[in-house]
Amino acid sequence: MSAEWISRLTAKMRQIDGVGFGGSPVLTSQDVAGALAGTHRHGYLLVLAKYADDNAASQLLWRELAQEISHERGCDYEKARGIALACIFPVIHPAHCNQCQGRGLIFPRTKGKSIEDSARKCERCEGTGQGEISERQRAAMARIPPTTWHDSWKDYAAKKEQHLWAVESSALSRLRAQLSDAA
Ligand SMILES: [Zn+2]
Repeated sequence: MSAEWISRLTAKMRQIDGVGFGGSPVLTSQDVAGALAGTHRHGYLLVLAKYADDNAASQLLWRELAQEISHERGCDYEKARGIALACIFPVIHPAHCNQCQGRGLIFPRTKGKSIEDSARKCERCEGTGQGEISERQRAAMARIPPTTWHDSWKDYAAKKEQHLWAVESSALSRLRAQLSDAA
């Protein structure tokens, strides 16, 4: 992994945390590779794809998840590609909450208060900034008719997506721990 990759990744991590790491951490590529090596392979690829815009990693994740789906559900690979995309896309490109435009905070106008003082947590997304991607949109990504999606794929895909969120979160906390040690 290159130094450029690491600086982009740390910048992205700062964005998502909203906090720095207490100074600029000095990291070697081995630090990052080491931090991610113990994580689930899908989490590793996902973090590369999502936070380092690593196109090769996202292609690999897509292919491997499609193979897994094809194997588990006995459907052909091309169909599984569509379903895999519908599971991966919402995790890599989460929809923004409409209420707070993805900030997680709303700023009601209050007389005599500064904008910072009147900020409060967005209730619609509970401060996550994330919006919902509809099942209809997921079906469209999977290129499956909405009724078939609803009857045969919705629950299965939701579990796959949950798995991706979980491995992402575990990869990020490992990376975070490693980055703060290195700082
Ligand atoms: Zn919101």
